[in-house]
Amino acid sequence: MTLDTAPETTAEPRAETRSFQAEVSRLLDIVAHSLYSEKEIFLRELISNASDACDRLRYAALTEPSLAEGDASYRVVVTPVKSSRTLTVADNGIGMNHDELVENLGTIARSGTAAFVSELTGDAKKDMSLIGQFGVGFYSAFMVADKVEVLSRKAGEAEGWRWTSDGKGSFTIEPAANVPRGLRIMLHIREGDEEYLDPQRIRQIVKRYSDHIALPIVLADGNKEETINVASALWTRPRSEITPEQYKEFYHHVAHSFDEPWLTLHGKAEGVLEYSFLLFVPAEGTELVPPYLRFVKGIVDSEDLPLNISREMLQSNPTLARIRQQLTRRVLSELSKKASEAPDEYATFWDNFGAVLKEGLYEDREQRDQILPLARFRSTTRDGLISLDDYIAAMRPGQEAIYTITGDNLDLLIKSPQIEGFRARGVEVLLLTDPIDEFWVTAIGAYTEKPFKSATRGGADLDKITSPDEKEKPAKPEPPAKLASLIAIFKLALGDAVKDVRSSERLTDSAVCLVADEGDVDMHLERLLKQHRQLDTTAKRILEVNPQHPLIVRLAASVGESGASEQLSEFAWLLLDQARIIEREQLPDPPAFARRLASLLQRGLPAAA
Ligand code: ADP
Repeated sequence: MTLDTAPETTAEPRAETRSFQAEVSRLLDIVAHSLYSEKEIFLRELISNASDACDRLRYAALTEPSLAEGDASYRVVVTPVKSSRTLTVADNGIGMNHDELVENLGTIARSGTAAFVSELTGDAKKDMSLIGQFGVGFYSAFMVADKVEVLSRKAGEAEGWRWTSDGKGSFTIEPAANVPRGLRIMLHIREGDEEYLDPQRIRQIVKRYSDHIALPIVLADGNKEETINVASALWTRPRSEITPEQYKEFYHHVAHSFDEPWLTLHGKAEGVLEYSFLLFVPAEGTELVPPYLRFVKGIVDSEDLPLNISREMLQSNPTLARIRQQLTRRVLSELSKKASEAPDEYATFWDNFGAVLKEGLYEDREQRDQILPLARFRSTTRDGLISLDDYIAAMRPGQEAIYTITGDNLDLLIKSPQIEGFRARGVEVLLLTDPIDEFWVTAIGAYTEKPFKSATRGGADLDKITSPDEKEKPAKPEPPAKLASLIAIFKLALGDAVKDVRSSERLTDSAVCLVADEGDVDMHLERLLKQHRQLDTTAKRILEVNPQHPLIVRLAASVGESGASEQLSEFAWLLLDQARIIEREQLPDPPAFARRLASLLQRGLPAAA
């Protein structure tokens, strides 16, 4: 940005000319050449900015009343003048000083416009249709104007400023006298765009896009002034009088989001606390109410004060804390309704925001019982998402726990050896892949008295469970005769490297796996904590061997043969390392592993001639 600052001592301050940030120039180029058919949205953008500017002054004046002195009836005045081909949009909001004009109307740092720029494709047609969706904020004025003049005075400050640009690379800024508080944007309407000087057309545009604006939007036509919107806050109006389009325009305005609201919650609380609220859950993935409902957007209005909720305010104020509690319940019960009425839509919502909502299970004890039934899971036995109630309904006779396995990759998780035995008995295991899962599951412990149990920790209790093709408990195949001796040899060989070696109930196809002992930290959690440097010790694991696996059967048979015990201890190490690899754990001694493997492979080959 070039900058020639007027020396402060000059008696007559000069105008300075600055270049737009390169991205703004590019944007203005698109805007100016837009053949976009709904250019009319420029007015929506300017009115939305004007309304925001009034809201900002209203908040600021709560703590510093002098800021709004002399004029606290906020409004937006739209003045078309055919003779001069100008359309003026003026507000008495917070205004901007010199530096803010330079920053805000010369660069792109702002929500709406930045979102637009990030979506630009380079394809003129697509880019143009994006203008309608996102709007390009202030810059959209250049769709209908070949010159824009802004007069601005910031609330609480004395100097006024004139900002002027033809939208072609640079703008000029200079001091101006007698500027009223706020912003006045004067558009010099392009040839061909005269319709925007027609009062009737302006009425129509305001009705269409800006009726939700709570401030009066006044049309000044000659010496007549007329309020052309309903000018009462949308959330105070009866639901029956509000169209889906109006809710949507309002949502775009408050949330600075450009998708469609998936859930709209509009109502009024009466009683000890009185307030109205209008909340939205976006269809797609961003702060309001408790952090775990941060995807909710909207307005809560108590008395005559609209609050764009910030967490800090909620935390410190007891009244707001109660409102928050009530709204939380409301949002949760509405989600519950959606979950049963529109399960497919709910599944999409869950994929977008489930990981966030689950934080509530951990953070908000009070609402736990409301949140748990809303949770959805993937599992080993079914496609799609299931609830905990679905899980419990499909529990096998004899099954007492809700089995879970945690990891970060769904595809690998499904292949975990530790769940083979569960699968063989038709016992469903919930696949948990969000980092928060490790924490809430431990914090909650049980759902409807069924304890959560990790499939990779402790005993599997599988022999109490009846599998679907057996009426009775599965007949347990006889373990190999010398299994106990084999296990004793393994224990001796591995020494301190493992906590224990034992025969497994949970394996069917794999020879070995590692599990955590009952009271120890889960293996995935340990990895997670280590990644975040929250833990630097490693708990010893239990090596489970599959008594039905042909390799184990063979090894057990060889116990007692001459020279077998040295070879068996090599096998013990190889099998332990193999189990570590499956767990994606680091091998403590990779060269030793390689040496053992090579020697074993060599023994398997016929002797060289
Ligand atoms: P956005 O509205 O998406 O933030 P804009 O380009 O429309 O982007 O506006 C940029 C910034 O200029 C706004 O965020 C605001 O700070 C400031 N601004 C725009 N219009 C006004 C106004 N009428 N009064 C005060 N500030 C304004």
